[in-house]
Amino acid sequence: MQPGWVWLCGAGPGDPGLLTLHALNALRQADVVVYDALVSEAILAWAPQAEHRYAGKRGGKPSAKQRDISLLLVDLARQGKRVLRLKGGDPFVFGRGGEEGQTLVQHGVPIRIVPGISAGIGGLAYAGIPVTHRDVNQSVTFVTGHDQTGETPLSLDWEAISRASGVIVIYMGMKHIAPIAEALRDAGRPASEPVAVVCTATTPDQQVLETTLGTVVEDIAESGLEPPAIICVGRSVLMRQALDWQAMARGLAPRDTDPLGRGRPAESA
Ligand code: SAH
Repeated sequence: MQPGWVWLCGAGPGDPGLLTLHALNALRQADVVVYDALVSEAILAWAPQAEHRYAGKRGGKPSAKQRDISLLLVDLARQGKRVLRLKGGDPFVFGRGGEEGQTLVQHGVPIRIVPGISAGIGGLAYAGIPVTHRDVNQSVTFVTGHDQTGETPLSLDWEAISRASGVIVIYMGMKHIAPIAEALRDAGRPASEPVAVVCTATTPDQQVLETTLGTVVEDIAESGLEPPAIICVGRSVLMRQALDWQAMARGLAPRDTDPLGRGRPAESA
């Protein structure tokens, strides 16, 4: 890292092993790390030499304003520091990395972007859910359950999303899961459609709820599960019955080695 630069890095969904080598390098070289709510202590511990500055925002609570964070980064860079801006997951996936990068560029601050593993892909993988599967979907849609005002994005065309994508991956969807599930059912997705809710994915606290579009709201309420969570809607959720590798690592047998009912080894055909 060079003095006066800002590296906008993804930290991955939680497990420090999912950091990229570039992010690890940056952690070791930075003078200051400006980090988000979803970046773990274990990851920050890789930067003992650096000043750690929290710039988190969590679920609509009044906290650091986006503009203030961007200007803080400009300021730190102008002081000649090696600045690591560390964000959960990937900085360009529902992470406002684009806005921060743009402000830095507008102020003449040199930047480097380091992508990270996004929770909607890596978090699902830790739950044994492949985000695409040849027998399920040829496309996947990533949506946010919040719009800029923190309200449900009912401005989204749920009918089009529903028609286009076998698998829908919802970020920040816990608060508004009721209207989202309703919109998807109104758009024709069956109440029996499999849904997984993956909380604090890839961390030791990871919890997974398997439910359906018809029962997801009550099941979340009953489970007491809290954000951050990725909600996955689609038949690829069934693959978890074969691919729950964390359960298998604990010695449990797969529940079903052919959950999609293809009746043939996956390699054939
Ligand atoms: N840039 C991040 C997303 C930031 S938006 C990324 O690429 O992953 C914040 C939302 O991401 C959370 O509300 C939640 O939906 C999801 N998220 C991030 N980390 C997560 C984790 N470890 N487990 C479950 N969901 C997570």
